[in-house]
Amino acid sequence: MDLYEHQARELFEEHGIVVPRAEVTDSPERARGIARALGGRAVVKAQVKTGGRGKAGGVRLVADPAEAEEAARHILGMDIKGHRVRSVMLAEPCEIEREFYVSYVLDRASGGFLAIASADGGMEIEEVAARRPEAVARIPVDPAVGVPTATAVRIADAAGLPPQTVDTLVRLWDVLVREDALLVEVNPLVMTADGRIVALDGKVTLDDNARFRQSRRCDEPPASADSLESRAAARGLNYVKLDGEVGVIGNGAGLVMSTLDVVAGCGARPANFLDIGGGASARVMADGLSVVLSDPDVKSVLVNVFGGITACDAVADGIVRALEEVRPTKPLVVRLDGNNAARGRALLAARAHPLVEQAATMDGAARRAARLATAASAAV
Ligand code: GDP
Ligand code: MN
Repeated sequence: MDLYEHQARELFEEHGIVVPRAEVTDSPERARGIARALGGRAVVKAQVKTGGRGKAGGVRLVADPAEAEEAARHILGMDIKGHRVRSVMLAEPCEIEREFYVSYVLDRASGGFLAIASADGGMEIEEVAARRPEAVARIPVDPAVGVPTATAVRIADAAGLPPQTVDTLVRLWDVLVREDALLVEVNPLVMTADGRIVALDGKVTLDDNARFRQSRRCDEPPASADSLESRAAARGLNYVKLDGEVGVIGNGAGLVMSTLDVVAGCGARPANFLDIGGGASARVMADGLSVVLSDPDVKSVLVNVFGGITACDAVADGIVRALEEVRPTKPLVVRLDGNNAARGRALLAARAHPLVEQAATMDGAARRAARLATAASAAV
């Protein structure tokens, strides 16, 4: 789970990393008061779980409380890369001398962690990484050893960071370990005009497997999540909303991923990823179908199941049940193959629902679902 900047800031502070004084609010009037308490000048920052807020106009340096109120009013409600801004953080401004980039990230390929650091941090870090990869140091971190001072010195040296950053590098590793994070990132980590090292922005991703230990961070209201995603999660479904029009349901992450590719190959865009998992029951299938059909963006649904542990007749049974519960208004294309496929197909054929058709192959099913979605979109 990703944290908001203000939550990351709080974690940093608890671990002794220097951060600006700051406070969060969802009201422009209160933003004015907070700015006053901070001394008048402030940085008003959108709190959304995505980067690039600065470039999107979601970070504004203001000169006085009145301007802070106006900036907050402007930023609240903004849409930044599909994320609605529901709160802003006001921070005491910092006089920036230099901007650095530092992060620790899980590196699945090596089975360890990577320290990534650059003396050219700030909003252009992606461009720096693309154009001058040598300006971004990547140092493997052995999780069993962690980042003692000697390692932090090596990281700082490799990236060309001043020695004053070493303490922050050690503490940031501590944040990662103690808070069960998969990623901690500070961009920019700044050196101020008076030589202090301050974390001006923070991104932290906690490991969902550690939720039970981090409950105080994981209590956010579901309002910020796609409500279908929370509904799916509550039913134990592996569902991710995407922005296309063909709903995709399959069993097994690999099969669902390739189904997304095949749909895209047919010139349509998948509306979601939904994996009903191995050994899925009729209940799970019905739940999955009901979630996907509730998405107003979905114009057609492709169910692609290869029965291994999952029996196709159970899937077919789930579809038949879901047809009673959800009463779909969108066409479904179903491809069943593998374990008990013949019985599954027969069940669906017997139900003979006017909106459900079957296809023999994955490619054929995807082509058909794509065509139905395009036809539905054109008809609107
Ligand atoms: P991001 O664009 O989402 O990464 O948001 P950041 O929090 O990193 O802010 C974007 C940029 O705003 C930073 O790279 C800084 O250049 C600038 N910025 C943020 N806080 C301050 C501040 O206190 N003073 C000054 N002068 N600039 C700031
Ligand atoms: Mn940033």
